This record gives sequence, structure tokens and C-alpha cells, in this order.
Amino acid sequence: MRMTSAAPIAADAGTEAEAEAEVEAVAPAEPARRHSEAEVAFMRRALAAAEEAAGRGEVPVGAVVTLGDEIVAVSHNERETGSDPTAHAEIVALRRAAAAVGNWRLNNADLYVTMEPCPMCAGALVNARIRRLYFGCDDPKAGAVRTLYRILDDRRLNHRVEVVPGLMAAEGATLLRSFFGRLRR
Ligand SMILES: [Zn+2]
Repeated sequence: MRMTSAAPIAADAGTEAEAEAEVEAVAPAEPARRHSEAEVAFMRRALAAAEEAAGRGEVPVGAVVTLGDEIVAVSHNERETGSDPTAHAEIVALRRAAAAVGNWRLNNADLYVTMEPCPMCAGALVNARIRRLYFGCDDPKAGAVRTLYRILDDRRLNHRVEVVPGLMAAEGATLLRSFFGRLRR
């Protein structure tokens, strides 16, 4: 499991007071690993999806599922529009990717998401047999990849997901920070 530092941020909209507290939690850091052009391009697409989410009043988190050089699914958080507590960007992306390839097993697929997955999404990544996860900033309030839990490399589970943290972490954190900053005003 490759590990570098990333920028922590919190993800739950909630009240304005909560938003204020969450804005303070952000502290960007530099990723140590060199990323390929393709990796950066895929994360840029996820960031663009996150930006779309913000435009719809959703907490800006975006995700992309790739298979080889191809994007098979793009999504963003849809909790508000879908009135669905499980409609995190990763869950929506996994559903779309599985539908696109006609198989719930996504063994050779990678998922890019702009913020560290929560326990629900980390569990879904294991269930989908995702090969590798790339994520942006850390989530100090719900991160289940390395912050609060380490679900993806837990040997008791039947599948492990390779992890690349801190990919464009500052960009992912900035989207969240400005979203919560606007809530505060
Ligand atoms: Zn989640």
C-alpha cells in the first residue's frame, strides 16, 4: 500500500456552524508520489464532476471509474437530489460502471475520487473487487482508507484494494473549502 500525505477535510454539510468548523479542518499537503499524465487526467475529470455537484448544492465530491485507458463511469455526490443517504460519488460511480460493463465484479477497474472514502464506500470498493483506489484529500471525519479505519488493506476481508492517496489533494480540498465557505456566508 503506497502512502503519502494529503490534505484533510470534512465532508458533511449540516448546519452553518458545522460548516464553519469544517472549513478550519483543512490543511493541504504535498503528495510525494509522481503521478502519470493519465492518472492526473482521470482525477481532473473527477474534480470537474465534484464542481458540478457544488453547482447543484451537493457537497462537492466527484468520482471516476476507469478500465485500462477508458473512463467507464463518472459521478458526483447526489445525496440531496436523490434524497439518498447512500448516493455518495463512489457508490453512484460503482453502480454505473457495473451497469456499463454488465458485471458487478470490477476486478481490473480503478476508482478515482476527490476525497477519502467513508466506511460505506470503502466497503463497496471491496465488494466490487476494485483493483486500485486513487483519492485526493483525507477525510478526518469519516475516512475509512487510512484516517479512521483501514478497510482496504484489512486482511480479514476477502479482497484488498491497492491505494494511492493524495492525488491532487489540494484541488479536492479547495472545492470543499469554498463550498463550505459559501454556506457560511
Ligand atoms: Zn462514502
